[in-house]
Amino acid sequence: MSKAKILFVEDSKTQAQTIKDFLESKGYDVIWVEDGKSAISEAKSRSSELDIILLDVILPDLNGDEVCRWLKLNQATRGIPIIMLTVKGSIPDKVIGLEAGADDYIPKPFDEIELNARIYACLRTKALQDELKLKNRQLEELLERVEVLAITDPLTELFNRRRFENVLEKEFQKTRRYNSPLSCLMIDIDHFKKINDDYGHHVGDAVLQDIAQIIRGNFREIDIISRWGGEEFIVLLPLTDSEAALKSAKRLLQTISNYKFSSLSGKKVTVSIGVASAPSANIDSGEKLINISDLVMYEAKKNGRNRIETA
Ligand code: GH3
Ligand code: MG
Ligand code: MG
Ligand code: MG
Repeated sequence: MSKAKILFVEDSKTQAQTIKDFLESKGYDVIWVEDGKSAISEAKSRSSELDIILLDVILPDLNGDEVCRWLKLNQATRGIPIIMLTVKGSIPDKVIGLEAGADDYIPKPFDEIELNARIYACLRTKALQDELKLKNRQLEELLERVEVLAITDPLTELFNRRRFENVLEKEFQKTRRYNSPLSCLMIDIDHFKKINDDYGHHVGDAVLQDIAQIIRGNFREIDIISRWGGEEFIVLLPLTDSEAALKSAKRLLQTISNYKFSSLSGKKVTVSIGVASAPSANIDSGEKLINISDLVMYEAKKNGRNRIETA
């Protein structure tokens, strides 16, 4: 472990030299400055490496408590513990120091052993606080990851169905309120079971990932793409009427049917797509919009696959 680093602020050269020697003999790395301004600038530039600040109350420029207040208000330096060196028996000094945010104080002249013990106690508290901060950060990161996982399909990294359903109702409400169009594409891979049967489940997974990637590449930032089921994908197109939706469905159908899947030694795969759009007389909810796009997708299957049907 590296030495603990102390910023020592003391204007009396003789006192400072004795204390510095003592602290160094105890294994601390000491940076000594003689006035308040230097204390602030050192603390600022070394905020991440300093473990503790020993701060004299009476300094030639700023008061120790002013320095202390500044350091405790500043985001970068507020975590560094401060021990104030007060004049013995002066209660107002102690109160002012503690009010300014000092973590401890020690009256002068002091016993070196006591100084060492107080420094040690402060360092221990700081180590615990640092550990707590780190744990908190790790927990926050974990929570963020869990939140992302909860709405993501692990195979394709698209939104999962739960997330989609959440977004769907909100989008549908917007459509109602602003009378703006909203379209939905239900996309189902044709004869996917045969791919699994002929090449194995792993290859099937790779094809699903490729198709997810192609779909992602075919839509806008504001479109909501999700894996709806096993080999079914769904895309919600805000501010898109049936005509524009059909156009983008055609483009997608083309792109997929032309794509040579490397996991299938260059063979091709097709999809069937059902398109439904709101506002429409028989679509009065997000759920209805999905159901109808699903129904027309089955029409596309019935009518020969690798095609699009619209509601
Ligand atoms: P159709 O053209 O009528 O849609 O025929 P299909 O074979 O695509 O449809 P079917 O519903 O009969 O089969 C879908 C298959 O998708 C069955 C299932 O094992 C497979 N499947 C579902 N989820 C996954 C997955 O995550 N990975 C793989 N490899 N296969 C999956
Ligand atoms: Mg002084
Ligand atoms: Mg299916
Ligand atoms: Mg299928």
